[in-house]
Order: sequence, then structure tokens, then C-alpha cells
Amino acid sequence: MNNEAQTFDVAIAGGGPAGAAAALLLARSGRQVLLADAAPVAVFRVGEGLPPSAHSLLQELGVFERFRADGHRVSHGNVSVWGADKPQSVDFMFQAHGHGYQLDRPCFDAMLKHAAREAGALVCDQTRLSLPNAARDGAFDQPFRMQLSDSSGSRNIECRWLVDAGGRSGTITRRLGVERCKTDRLIAFHTLLQTDSASDCDGRTMIEAVQDGWWYSVLLPSNERLLVYLCDSDLGRTERAALLSTDGFAAKLTNAPHMHQFCQLHGYRPRRVPQGADASSGRLERFSGDGWLALGDAALSFDPLSSQGISNALYTGMAGARAINAALDGQKDALAHYNDHLAGIYRAYLSNRAHFYGYERRWAQQPFWQRRHAPPQ
Ligand SMILES: Cc1cc2nc3c(=O)[nH]c(=O)nc-3n(C[C@H](O)[C@H](O)[C@H](O)COP(=O)(O)OP(=O)(O)OC[C@H]3O[C@@H](n4cnc5c(N)ncnc54)[C@H](O)[C@@H]3O)c2cc1C
Repeated sequence: MNNEAQTFDVAIAGGGPAGAAAALLLARSGRQVLLADAAPVAVFRVGEGLPPSAHSLLQELGVFERFRADGHRVSHGNVSVWGADKPQSVDFMFQAHGHGYQLDRPCFDAMLKHAAREAGALVCDQTRLSLPNAARDGAFDQPFRMQLSDSSGSRNIECRWLVDAGGRSGTITRRLGVERCKTDRLIAFHTLLQTDSASDCDGRTMIEAVQDGWWYSVLLPSNERLLVYLCDSDLGRTERAALLSTDGFAAKLTNAPHMHQFCQLHGYRPRRVPQGADASSGRLERFSGDGWLALGDAALSFDPLSSQGISNALYTGMAGARAINAALDGQKDALAHYNDHLAGIYRAYLSNRAHFYGYERRWAQQPFWQRRHAPPQ
């Protein structure tokens, strides 16, 4: 244990796209930045579809060329069975930004952290940043005292600004007493599939609505196929257990005839046991306060149907970094502007979400769809 606390302008908890984008911009502006990421290195994580509109964010961050060299799978569009029994395609070729990508997510996250490190941030992998009880000495202009822990032990640090980029769990903002408001209780069950056949080379995102939720599937750069079922979390214990088992998950897939047939056609079989993940929409009651700020999923989380989570993480990472820079330079309205801006993003997101769920009316009497057709609280 080292009692001499190192001091940073900004300490960021969470090294996903939001935290890394913020660390990169702040370090480039000459700030002393710490980026701590608790996640195990190179482990698979769900969240892989990068829409064409994200190119401009990567360009703004100055990482687009190295991103392109990393071998992510190009995606030329979506095919969805949504609102009708027949599949419908959307081709990105007819959109302004060109094609999208199915990401090798560990590689994408590592690339962003590497860029932040090159810009001068201290990046600590497999390290958790936590906020002890009396983290600040009374006055709001005092630094936060934080604890940094890894497998070798803990040490204290101090920072003028504390950033929560820790994803949906938002442990730092929770510790600060900021409330999270959830719009829904969506959860995801996901697995990876493999096949011996080389017949599947469809890089499009496939989506299929069913009576109690929806499915999506993408072909990853590793040639494994990710298969995800999304539904509300108020499932019975038996159904939840079934969806977390290989056989139960496969049985549920038979309710999605197009996706089921596609998997059979290419001889897919499960490569591992299904896992669950929070996929709910939600926002913090406020996104920043005296000396703290939240980014990415920690601030606003979106339904995977939107394919906007990573773009939002990059965008709020950059917007948050600019707000902190402005506040450190003495601009008094920087935080109020950031709060209003993110509230506006969430309002626009809710309106788009209602629009897309509104297209699907085949099971309008089922609770999953009724909840999404009702105006959000
Ligand atoms: C099923 C599913 C499918 C999705 N599909 C897509 C998609 O196709 N396209 C898309 O754009 N988005 C998708 N998303 C959403 C997307 O994955 C997220 O929006 C995105 O990862 C958010 O990035 P982030 O940086 O805010 O948080 P995260 O990527 O969650 O990163 C947070 C990091 O912080 C770490 N952490 C947490 N607390 C601490 C702490 N105290 N100290 C240090 N580290 C900490 C965590 O370990 C983690 O590594 C999907 C999400 C789900 C659930």
C-alpha cells in the first residue's frame, strides 16, 4: 500500500469506448488523465454492430485509419422480419455514410485504449477505481480521493474530476447518490454458434420479431455467429433457467422461423452456454455535477435495436471531455449545457424507439409489445 496519493486532473472509471474516447481527447488537451478498466483483457463482450454514421466519430477522434486496418467485418445492411412475415432488407449502399461494421469488440476497445495511452493518459487494465466513503473533504473544490485496485493490491489517488464511464452498472454515480431511471426491463440472452461449413458469409444484421420479444444475429470477424434473444426480465424462474441452457435456448429459437431455418441451413451448433446481459433503456436523473460527470451507458443506455450504444459512447465521451475542459478553463455553464444536451439525446432516442416498435403490430395484445406501444413514463 502506497500512502502517497498520485494526483490527476481527471480519473475515469471504465475503459469501454466512452471512457477511452474521453481519455484520448483530455490527454491530447494536455490534462493529466487516469483511465482504469476493470474488464479482463481480450474477453468476448456483446455489442458489435457499428453503424455507418459512426465513421465520422472515429475520424474526429483521429483513429479511423487504424480502425480500418484492424480487420473488422464489413456490414452492408440489415435484413429484418419486423411488422410483416416476409424479410425486408435495408442496404447501406443507399445511405450517405456507406457501409457499417461487425466489430471484433475486444480489438476495438483495445485500439481506443491504445490511442489514449499514446496521447499521454495513464491506462490501467484489469484495475478498478472505487470511491471510498469520505471521498471529498467537504468543499466541492477539493479533489476526490479514490482507490485504485488490481491483483497486486490497492493504492490511493486524487483527482479534480471524476468520470463514470463504467457502463450500465454505473457504480461511481450510484455511490454519489445519483438516481438512474429505467424506461424498460429489457434483457438479452446470447450465445456464439459455430459451423464446419463455409457457406455463411452474410455480414448483414438479421432481426426477427416474435410474440414476446425479438432476435438478432450477426456474423463476427472470427466467423462465429452471435445469436441474441431479447425479452423483458419478468420471466418465471423455469423459463429464465431454460434460456440460460443450450437446449432451452435452441428450443426457443424455433419460435423465430426465419432465424431458425437460417441456422439449420448453415449447420450451426452452439459453441458455448448462453449468457444473460442487461439491455434496458435508461438514463441518470442528471449527467454531471460538482467535479463529476457520466458518459456512455453509465449516463444513457439504449435498446440494442437502435444499434446506437457504441456511437453514443464515443459521442458522449467526446462531449464529456469538452465539458470538463471548458469547466477546468472556468466556463460556468459547461455542465448545464452538457446536462441539457444529454437529456435532449435521450428524448430523441425515446421518440425513435417508439417509432420502430410501433411498426410491429402482429402481437399488439402481448405484454412485451403493449409496453412498447404505450407512451414512455
Ligand atoms: C445484447 C446487447 C447488444 C448490443 N449490441 C450493440 C450493437 O450492435 N451496436 C451498438 O452500438 N451497441 C450495442 N450494444 C450496446 C453497447 O455495447 C454499449 O452501449 C457500449 O459498450 C457502451 O460503452 P461504454 O464505454 O459506455 O461502456 P462499456 O462498454 O460497458 O464499458 C464499461 C467498462 O467499465 C468497466 N468498469 C465498470 N466499473 C468500473 C470501475 N469502477 N473501475 C474501472 N472499470 C470499471 C467495465 O468492466 C467495462 O469494461 C449492445 C448491448 C447489449 C446488451
